Amino acid sequence: STPASSPKVCIVGGGPAGFYTAQHLVKTRTDVQVDIYERLPVPFGLVRFGVAPDHPEVKNVINTFTQTAQHARCSFHGNVRVGKDVTVEELQEAYHAVVLSYGAEGNRTMGVPGEDLAGVYSAKDFVGWYNGLPRNRELRPDLSCETAVILGQGNVALDVARMLLSPVDILKKTDITQHALDALAESSVRRVLIVGRRGPLQVACTIKELREMVNLPGTRPEMEASEFEGIAETLKSLVRPRKRLTELLLKAAIETPGEEELEKRNRAERAWGFRFLRRPLEVLPSTDLIRAAGIRLAVNRLEGDGEGVRAVATGEVEDVECGLVISSIGYKSLPIDPAVPFDARKAIIPNTMGRVQQTAGLYCSGWVKRGPTGVIATTMNDSFDTARTLLQDIGKGTLDVSTVKPGSQGVSALLEKRGVKPVSFSDWEKIDSEETRRGETRGKPREKMLDVGEMLQVARA
Ligand code: FAD
Repeated sequence: STPASSPKVCIVGGGPAGFYTAQHLVKTRTDVQVDIYERLPVPFGLVRFGVAPDHPEVKNVINTFTQTAQHARCSFHGNVRVGKDVTVEELQEAYHAVVLSYGAEGNRTMGVPGEDLAGVYSAKDFVGWYNGLPRNRELRPDLSCETAVILGQGNVALDVARMLLSPVDILKKTDITQHALDALAESSVRRVLIVGRRGPLQVACTIKELREMVNLPGTRPEMEASEFEGIAETLKSLVRPRKRLTELLLKAAIETPGEEELEKRNRAERAWGFRFLRRPLEVLPSTDLIRAAGIRLAVNRLEGDGEGVRAVATGEVEDVECGLVISSIGYKSLPIDPAVPFDARKAIIPNTMGRVQQTAGLYCSGWVKRGPTGVIATTMNDSFDTARTLLQDIGKGTLDVSTVKPGSQGVSALLEKRGVKPVSFSDWEKIDSEETRRGETRGKPREKMLDVGEMLQVARA
């Protein structure tokens, strides 16, 4: 055990940012004690609830996080909602430093009429539904229509498109929740249009995700050749990642396919395509005004070039028939506690290199620090940066660690008084093995529990 006077740091949020921050702290300083507080009884944040079920290799980071959680100077406290069960000020009382790594649990909305109609979902909820996020278990998306429109062209949009169009035989071997698998097996969706404000040169996805769409069994691309006019001519001037992405896009969109590809396309029963230069104006209702029946899009054109290119409305509109609309225009961080500064416009905690502005002893990392973009590797680097900043502050003496702080003992006492029972990492391991066991019986790597009550029951058994 560490001496009572050792620096005690608490981390809010058990996603990649929380675990990478903890990892760097315990590895770099041999006396620091780290506690991670997580809202849910289960760890890993969007690695569990965001990353697509058919990307198991991405989830290997869980092994590293597990090593950190099992480190002698690191503890995991699940089932603790910071801001509700315990305030940030109380955490600051108990620890020398508090790192906020609670991600982006809100959602950007389209702000158009019809957004509340049945059949309209945010990608965040849809992803939460197929990945077993407890709050989305009752979503029951209506998949009885032929055409789905996804608004947004980033990787999350492509994850959703892939889930809607993948053969169920592929999905059933993943950790997708059984209720989602059953619903997708019955789905009538045959065509997915992925709509963006700007042009083919501005798509926000990466090549890996685009390649997965292009290679998706049982599907063919359905693009508008006219949207690619002049694109091939720009290839020479593009930097490499954008160039390769655009080449692949052109290949799917306008090149004459080879024999094998042609055969695949002819056999395909499902189709996907990008639609460019379109902005949603209104979700159009069915005649009974209850459901989505289509979407009205404003037609844009581009002004300017390079990074500064902007979409401006031409005044033209276009209606597309569809019964399912999924908006994938971004996640958004929310304020956690009145004691913590929050930049409502940028939807992040205002910070300088991870130091929360105007608040000594408070730090942040991950999506709440820099906004909801970037892969796990990006989150890792910025979390290491925040940990470095914090350790520098201890070194410089600007973060005072000379007083003795109660750490988790102090917080445990508060939680007990409030009737909150935290879930430890070994409790989580019981949930983990039960989920793995349930998965095995179905030939899946895991069958996730969807109910917090059930998770707690298994954790305490
Ligand atoms: P999160 O992962 O969201 O973690 C935040 C944690 O804080 C959560 O566990 C949450 O429950 C907890 N929390 C929230 N509020 C509180 C509170 N009040 N008290 C206590 N705890 C709280 N990256 C890749 O590299 N590859 C991929 O394939 C990939 N796929 C993705 C798919 C989707 C749909 C999404 C949304 C993202 C994907 N990413 C992927 C990006 C990756 O998930 C993020 O970079 C990373 O998860 C951000 O980490 P974070 O810790 O900041 O946030």
